[in-house]
Amino acid sequence: MRPWNFSAGPSVLPLEVLQQAAAEMTDWHGCGMSVMEMSHRGKQFMQICDEAEADLRELLAVPDDFAVLFMQGGATAENAILPLNLIGRNGSGKADYVLSGSWSSKSYKEAGRYGDIAVAASSGEAAELDGVRQAPFTWFPAAETWRVRSDAAYVHLCSNETIGGVEFVQWPDLAGLGAPDVPLVVDASSHILSRPIDFSRAGMIYAGAQKNAGPAGVTLVFIRRDLIGHALPICPTAFDYVNVAEAKSMFNTPPTYAIYIAGLVFKWLKRQGGVAGIERANIAKAQALYGYLDESPFYANPVHRPARSRMNVPFILADESLNQAFLADAEQAGLLQLKGHKSVGGMRASIYNAMPLAGVQALVDFMQDFEKRHG
Ligand SMILES: *Cc1c(COP(=O)(O)O)cnc(C)c1O
Repeated sequence: MRPWNFSAGPSVLPLEVLQQAAAEMTDWHGCGMSVMEMSHRGKQFMQICDEAEADLRELLAVPDDFAVLFMQGGATAENAILPLNLIGRNGSGKADYVLSGSWSSKSYKEAGRYGDIAVAASSGEAAELDGVRQAPFTWFPAAETWRVRSDAAYVHLCSNETIGGVEFVQWPDLAGLGAPDVPLVVDASSHILSRPIDFSRAGMIYAGAQKNAGPAGVTLVFIRRDLIGHALPICPTAFDYVNVAEAKSMFNTPPTYAIYIAGLVFKWLKRQGGVAGIERANIAKAQALYGYLDESPFYANPVHRPARSRMNVPFILADESLNQAFLADAEQAGLLQLKGHKSVGGMRASIYNAMPLAGVQALVDFMQDFEKRHG
């Protein structure tokens, strides 16, 4: 059996997908070529790409007025590509950012190169919530507290902070915040396809594929069509959403193999009962792990309960001097990549779609055993 892989990204892929890719590696469907060797404009790859887009649209119930783009450069490049495309939208040159952790902070910093960028809200300070003192970036700023400028070109948030393990899904109606014309732009890299998305609340959603949707190399972008067509003159041609959308993601050579593997992941997701089916599994996994963390005095998760991520679960050992032993024993037990991000410390279990409940149970069993031996 393969070990259980808790990497935050690039992360575990469904075994069925890897096996199918292996079987098709040298000869895709009898055409005599591997997917890596085909023209992106040939009929085989066009079919692969069209099916990937159709399956993705079906899985997330993407409305017709949204374009789906397959881009490159990851979410990090998108942090620049999106202001280059959107900040000129209404002539204000302004955009507002909600800061909830490392990734949204990086997005904010990058956008500062392109316009008048302000902080709409931040959880970068400690806060007293529900009688508990929450450390910086272990909670999410409630939408009622956001200050969004009514003439901002967009407001940005990260809906799942992969490093802090903070998730935010009740996307607000910005009309209620006095900003009816401001679209919400969301970095959903680390929980895309793990639960349904309310497209009525967003103008644009983007996600690097390598957490939950496929291998590194392709970025998924969903953008309301009326927001396309406002790129600044300095925006690189290949990153202007108009060009990418008009060419159906083939303005230049797309990351063909990454799109193919993502397409296999989409078909696998459909076999799991779609997003509704995988969400049920994700809830069960999160309950199993958080349930144990909460009952054990040996481990703790630092995140404000309503903001806990279903995908990324950071935890600390009460006795941090046991960290090295924990990681070494975990690896021995076939539980890989549990070390927390260096900025947070401790451990982190990323339990994306492709991690089955059996893997989470194996982790909990190991943690119980480790606690018995050291507690
Ligand atoms: C991983 C991650 C990124 C960065 O993705 P790259 O593909 O490395 O650019 C950005 N945002 C979030 C939320 C992430 O999880």
